[in-house]
Amino acid sequence: MSTTSVPVNPVVSQVIPLTRTRHAAVTRNVPADPRLIDSFGRVATDLRVSLTDKCNLRCQYCMPAEGIDPLPNRMLLSDDEINRLIRIGVELLGIEEVRFTGGEPLLRKGLEGIVEKTAALRTWAGKKPDISLTTNGLGLKHRAGRLKAAGLDRVNLSMDTASRETYAAMTRRDRFDDARAGARAAADAGLTPVKVNAVLMPGINDMDAPDLLLESLVSGYSLRFIEYMPLGPRGQWHREEIITADDILGMLSESFTLTPRPAAERGAAPAELWDVTAGEVLGTRHPGGTVGIIGSVTRPFCGNCDRTRLTADGQIRDCLFANTETDLRGGLRGGASDEEIADMWRDAMWGKLAGHGTDNPAFLNPTRPMSAIGG
Ligand code: SAM
Repeated sequence: MSTTSVPVNPVVSQVIPLTRTRHAAVTRNVPADPRLIDSFGRVATDLRVSLTDKCNLRCQYCMPAEGIDPLPNRMLLSDDEINRLIRIGVELLGIEEVRFTGGEPLLRKGLEGIVEKTAALRTWAGKKPDISLTTNGLGLKHRAGRLKAAGLDRVNLSMDTASRETYAAMTRRDRFDDARAGARAAADAGLTPVKVNAVLMPGINDMDAPDLLLESLVSGYSLRFIEYMPLGPRGQWHREEIITADDILGMLSESFTLTPRPAAERGAAPAELWDVTAGEVLGTRHPGGTVGIIGSVTRPFCGNCDRTRLTADGQIRDCLFANTETDLRGGLRGGASDEEIADMWRDAMWGKLAGHGTDNPAFLNPTRPMSAIGG
């Protein structure tokens, strides 16, 4: 058992011990609190909904080249089931933000309808939930306007490189222009700020980081580097080989002037942010902006985590790295009432561990790959 500690949520008074042993209070003595509170006092208000486990790219850090056997259709939630669970989350459990992900969420035909139904809900504060989409952007060119009209607020686009050749190597697909057109269309449709997510893999795209930042600044996108996590193909991730937050900062600082944003601004956001001063890099002028680094492995932020995850087959996960799930699909199809489903969800979150534990050498990969969890 690890004795490392993670940063503390302001609502919790003690430093949280990082351990992968499930907390003793799991599913017992859950307080009569209507929210998704866990036994360390964290409250989940950010719901990640995976709409499919299928994807049209084969990113090296996420999927094997041959892909992954898709979940059988009968196990996938229907649009109505997804809408019902999101409504329960917002109306009975205090969810304020909904992010759609996958797999590739644009492959879900009913996406616009699901967004529209979500946008019609009201949070406990009487507001429309904040709605975002994590996507590779393929096909977004044709759907950005409709998604905006349906109530989508913004997008996070995965683009790991500014080079066409590296994009093809990284994703194993020649779709560079489509991804970039998707990003442009999102910005033009007002799905802003457009955030770009990039994962660096040693020897594949790590040397592209400064170019990618330059391109993002010139395009007006907010780039965030995510440390490579052990969620892709088995046996490929080696802790000592990952490009860490410190490595990324070092690389970027050679070409850009970076100033850290005050830590107090961060809240539950996973990214640490830096302001980038306007300037000229590699002969190109840029207007400055921000860059973020999500140090999921070397700088875990579990103490401030406010997320709950719903997989495309109706399982609640309290963490990306969880090894247990709670089956809401069974409840839905077994005739459970909204309040009964809300209770199942509350119980699931009460047992959330203090930390994901990827910084612990004894860490075990979750059994589901990232594409089937929803990043
Ligand atoms: N298909 C969509 C996309 O490409 O953004 C959504 C799903 S993808 C699994 C969501 C996010 O997870 C992406 O930003 C991707 O970069 C990130 N991701 C996938 N595998 C990862 C890994 N092993 N480590 C870190 N981030 C990963």
